[in-house]
Amino acid sequence: MNRKGTFHSHSLLKFFAIVALFSLVLACGWAAEPGRITDIRFWQSPEEAQVVVDVSATPRVSSVSRLKDGTLYFDIANCRFRPGRQRYPLKNPFLEVLTVQQKKDMVRIFFRVPTGVEAKTFVLPKNERKGDRIVIFLKEPQAALQQRRNAELSAVKKLKAENIKIVVLDPGHGGEDPGTQHNGIIEKNYVLNMGKLVKAYFDRDPRFKAILTRSGDYIIPLQRRREISEHLGADAFVSLHVNYNRKKSIRGIEVYYESPKGAVGEAERLVAETENMVDFGGAVNHSKPQSVKKDIVEKQASTMFKSRQLAEKVEGRLAASVNSLPSRGVKRAGFKVLHSMTMPSVLVEFGYTSSVADANILKNYTYRTRLAQAVYLGLRDFLLGDIEEGIDTTYLAYIKQAEARKARLNRAAEARRKKLAAAKKKARRYKVKKGDTLSGIAAKYRVSLTRLLRLNNFRKTQIIKVGDLVLIPAK
Ligand SMILES: [Zn+2]
Repeated sequence: MNRKGTFHSHSLLKFFAIVALFSLVLACGWAAEPGRITDIRFWQSPEEAQVVVDVSATPRVSSVSRLKDGTLYFDIANCRFRPGRQRYPLKNPFLEVLTVQQKKDMVRIFFRVPTGVEAKTFVLPKNERKGDRIVIFLKEPQAALQQRRNAELSAVKKLKAENIKIVVLDPGHGGEDPGTQHNGIIEKNYVLNMGKLVKAYFDRDPRFKAILTRSGDYIIPLQRRREISEHLGADAFVSLHVNYNRKKSIRGIEVYYESPKGAVGEAERLVAETENMVDFGGAVNHSKPQSVKKDIVEKQASTMFKSRQLAEKVEGRLAASVNSLPSRGVKRAGFKVLHSMTMPSVLVEFGYTSSVADANILKNYTYRTRLAQAVYLGLRDFLLGDIEEGIDTTYLAYIKQAEARKARLNRAAEARRKKLAAAKKKARRYKVKKGDTLSGIAAKYRVSLTRLLRLNNFRKTQIIKVGDLVLIPAK
């Protein structure tokens, strides 16, 4: 939607999608007692922003309307806020102004976005962690986004030409997603801080360029974190986290890289994606799914081989960095951020916030700098050392095993089908008469009821009608 009062066709579509979403909530979320707006928060990344309105009860929200001057608004029925009109002049690249007005027993929210910014509004129902929320989602104009991405890319290309290694540091979580919060550590803040510390080490080393996937408190979708790095052709990717476990005695550092199970899932997703491209894109893809999958698996196996080396280097440095912080070693898991086929990727868990001992170490500034330095040193060891080429054989073995299992199951299913077909061929046919029951028929022909049911694909509760044909198993 733009300010001139015209709709671009795809924005219009989006607009209708929002209306549909709101009417859904309208239909099923009737709260009798009045709700209250308990908080209004604003999150911003370089590419998008969100206004999050916390409400105390499931909100009934109207569709979005627009005033002549381009201001958009919607109503929350049966809702309370502060009396009168609250104006939040944001003067922000995504949002010029936000006004919240109490009108009798409803609240009206006005917002105005700069030209080109796309606005989407939706309701997030409450979950075990958060209450009901209304979200206004704002996205940077596509052209500006493209321009910025291109500028980033050409800057990175120049660096690559000078043989400078590109490292992407990915502080996990952010914005509405705080990650784990225990013993005075909020994961999203902690790992952002760690990311900045690690970056500071790289900034002092002219052989590297380190890039953070986020430099503020906002959320980035998991897949996008990886895409940012792949787009830039990064040489390595490290996602930064702290862990949590209900068992408070569990503690220590962990470094993860892609698991065979995670990789298979990703390979299958990619194969399905290429098949869909053929279906919807109109372009003919001549390669068969089998060969597409083979290509993907080969790339994955070769990248995983490098990811393992990276994980070992980083884990080795981390394990030696703080004496009192143990390492649980290198592990594998199918985390989404680790799915890259081209870029060695690892995920670091600096320790367990649920462990008081770990939390105290993680909060200590000296230890923090040592941990950050260890991540830098591990990456440096990997990128400047001899990276061994090879394939992850455990992955190929896993695929072989999975395929053998699938084949075995298929064969067993085929055998069952054949057996059933043969039995049906030999069976006698019986026409149901008035008063017949399946157990009565089974007894009459002296066959077990179970066999009778199985041959006919009947359930125990099957109802038969006069004139139905029932197969009687041959003795
Ligand atoms: Zn995390």
